[in-house]
Amino acid sequence: MPVRTKPLPMRPSRFGLEEIAALTAALQRNELWYWHDDSIVEESAKKAAAKFGAPFAVATSSGTASLHVAVAAARMPAGSEVVVTPVTDIGTINAILYQNLVPVFADVDPDTACPTLEHIKAACTERTRGVVVVHLTGCPVQVDEVALFCRERGLVLIEDCAQGLGATLNGQAIGTFGDFGCYSLNDQKHITCGEGGFVLMGTEERFYLCHNYADKYYDRHKKGDRLKALAPNYRMSELDGAMFGVQLHKLDAIFEKRRRLGDDLTARLTAIPGIIPQRQPATAKAAYFFFQLRIDPGAISISRDEFLKRLEAEGIPARPAYVPVPIYRSPYFLSKSFFPGAWPAELAAGRSYDYSTIRLPGAEEAVATGITLTLHEGFEPSDIDDYVEAISIVAKTGP
Ligand SMILES: *Cc1c(COP(=O)(O)O)cnc(C)c1O
Repeated sequence: MPVRTKPLPMRPSRFGLEEIAALTAALQRNELWYWHDDSIVEESAKKAAAKFGAPFAVATSSGTASLHVAVAAARMPAGSEVVVTPVTDIGTINAILYQNLVPVFADVDPDTACPTLEHIKAACTERTRGVVVVHLTGCPVQVDEVALFCRERGLVLIEDCAQGLGATLNGQAIGTFGDFGCYSLNDQKHITCGEGGFVLMGTEERFYLCHNYADKYYDRHKKGDRLKALAPNYRMSELDGAMFGVQLHKLDAIFEKRRRLGDDLTARLTAIPGIIPQRQPATAKAAYFFFQLRIDPGAISISRDEFLKRLEAEGIPARPAYVPVPIYRSPYFLSKSFFPGAWPAELAAGRSYDYSTIRLPGAEEAVATGITLTLHEGFEPSDIDDYVEAISIVAKTGP
């Protein structure tokens, strides 16, 4: 008998009368454009800033947009290098490429699939102007140390918190350690407005910069900066703003449920020889966008892919690592075909970059041995029991 015969739980109902009421009220105003007195979008962004303990927030149309806005607002000269992880959503990387900057990949600790401060330092050169850290799965990286290093070195620090709504380190929300904290509100994230995102920042100057970069540099606040730079339209509409505001109220319950389940699973898997759940800083509270673990090939005698097959046979659907290959092995990096014709960042840098020969051992290991499991607020302790039982059975099987 397999450990489990029923499918994994679905996410419980996420939208209710509160969303309907907020959307109806937004429609009744007869204007979905965000820039006016009483803007629902601005109000929701303020609520997000207050919730996460940031002085300011700017709403955007996606997580990728929030990252692009932050990278643009950091005003790094074209051709500068930005250190980033090769294990992330492609939106993180694209934000760097759009601004004619050069992504430089740091290696990762296989047990977190994220770079440590040492990996980041090793990737820095005299051309480095910024660092983007990603709190993968919503598990905080040791970003306080990275922030200190970046301040000392005069580097911009951007945090990709798209998977970490609600996560904290030392009791402080992720996204408030660096210069900019970027969140996504797409439908897969903990809370959503359909498509959307927001950027947290600590100073008024950065607030206006982000506002301008999210709205064609139209200088809505009339600071005398109209059209002083190239900027896309990443505005959020009032309908999305209404959803954003309501969904913020639902985050704590979703976060807490996931955290309890995820921490329990982490503790129980740690006890199984050869199984390494994603390691966390001692003072972190992780958001568990999904659950990540890896097998120790020295202690488990079957391959990762065979491990996945046997889990499947136990009724547990499991997937390989978050990315199929580290991002430097994606086709557009191998051929540097980011733009037709030329890659402007290289021209600006006055030097050429070769991604085709990069092999970062930690990243290769993380991707080759990684396993991801679904985890969300619809799970019950008995579902965690099934995960633990199936994984401990498969971990003991021989070739
Ligand atoms: C979801 C996600 C993004 C991009 O967010 P979108 O809203 O889909 O553009 C960026 N980085 C990470 C780590 C993500 O999980």
